[in-house]
Amino acid sequence: MGSETITYQGLKVPKTYYGLTDNFKTDEFDFEFNPKNSLMITGETTNGILGDEVSSRFSVGAKVVLSRENKDYEHLRLVKDYFKIDGDSPKTIIAVGGGSIADYAKVLAKELKANLVVFTTALSHDGLVSGRSSLRNNGIKGSYEAKVPDHVVAFSEIIESSDSDLTLNGWGDHISKYSSLSEWNFALEKNQGGELFDETIYNSIRNSLDNLSESYQNLFEYFVNSGNITNSFGSSRPLSGGEHAIAHALSDTKKKKGDLTYDLDHGKRVAAFGLFLLGIYEDVGEVSEIHWKDYKKEMINLGLPTTLLELGIGYGEFKDAVYKAPTIRSRYGILDHLGERLTDQLIDYSAKRVGLV
Ligand SMILES: [Zn+2]
Repeated sequence: MGSETITYQGLKVPKTYYGLTDNFKTDEFDFEFNPKNSLMITGETTNGILGDEVSSRFSVGAKVVLSRENKDYEHLRLVKDYFKIDGDSPKTIIAVGGGSIADYAKVLAKELKANLVVFTTALSHDGLVSGRSSLRNNGIKGSYEAKVPDHVVAFSEIIESSDSDLTLNGWGDHISKYSSLSEWNFALEKNQGGELFDETIYNSIRNSLDNLSESYQNLFEYFVNSGNITNSFGSSRPLSGGEHAIAHALSDTKKKKGDLTYDLDHGKRVAAFGLFLLGIYEDVGEVSEIHWKDYKKEMINLGLPTTLLELGIGYGEFKDAVYKAPTIRSRYGILDHLGERLTDQLIDYSAKRVGLV
C-alpha cells in the first residue's frame, strides 16, 4: 500500500463536512485520502454527470459502475468478497450519485471499515447521512447498518439540473415532517411514558419547516440535519410517523405482488399520506402541527401531487395500507390510537375531504 496522500485545503470544516458548493473545478476540499486505496461507487447515469470528473480529479484507484439492477446487497457482497480475496481492501469509498448509490456505498464502507466521501447528485430522501441504508436483497428491501459519511459534498449546479422528480421527492420527504412531528407530539401526550422527547431536535425540525422554500441550500441543510437527528436520537421517530408507516405498508404489498414500483416516489407518497393523516387529526378532533389546508397549499406550491391518481395508487390498495400501517412497527400514532374507530367510513370521509380521492 502506498503512503502518498493528496490533500485539498480551503473549506474549514470539522470531521463531517457538508457543503453546497458552486464550482467543482475551482473549489477546494478539506479531506484527504490515498487515491491508490480508494474505490469509487457510481451509477451508469451519474458516472457521466460527475463520476468521470471526480475520478480524474482525485485519481481514484478503482471504480465500480452500478446498473439499476445491481444496486443491491447481493452485488455488494460480491464486491466485498473480491476485496477480501485481493487482500487490498479500499480505505476510502467515494460515492458519486443519488440516494440509492449513497445507500449502497454507506453499507459497503461500513462492512469494509472504510472512510466514506459522498458526492451527491440529487437530494431525493432524507436518509443521506443516517447510519442506516435500505437495500434490496434477493428482491426484498431491507434496512442495513451503514457508515455515516465522513464528508458529503453537493454541487448546486448539479443539484439544480438534476432530475427534478428526484428533488420533488426530497421536498415531499421534508414537508411530511409536519405529519411526523404531529405524530410524535400526539404519542407523547397519549402514550405517556412510552416516548422519549428531545426539545432541541423538535425545534430544529420545526424551524426547518418554517423556512420551507424552494431553496436547495435549505433542503440540503435539512437533509444533513435530519441525518444527524436520527443518529443522535437513536431512531427515526421524530422524522417518521404514520405517513411513513402507510408508505411502508404500501411498499410491502406492492413488493409481494412482484411490483418493481414499490420503492419509487417515497417522498411524494409520504407527503400525500401526511395530508391524509392531518385530515384525520382534524376529523377526530385532535391537534396537529399544521391545518391540512395550509399543508396542502404548501404541497401545491412545491409542485407535489395531492391525489392518489397522480401517484398511481389505487384507492383499494391505499385503504389496505392504512389498515396495515399500525402493524408495521410499534410506534404509537393516531392510527394506533383510533384502533377500532378506524373504519372505512372515516377513511373515506377524510380522504375525500382533503382531496386525496
Ligand atoms: Zn422519509
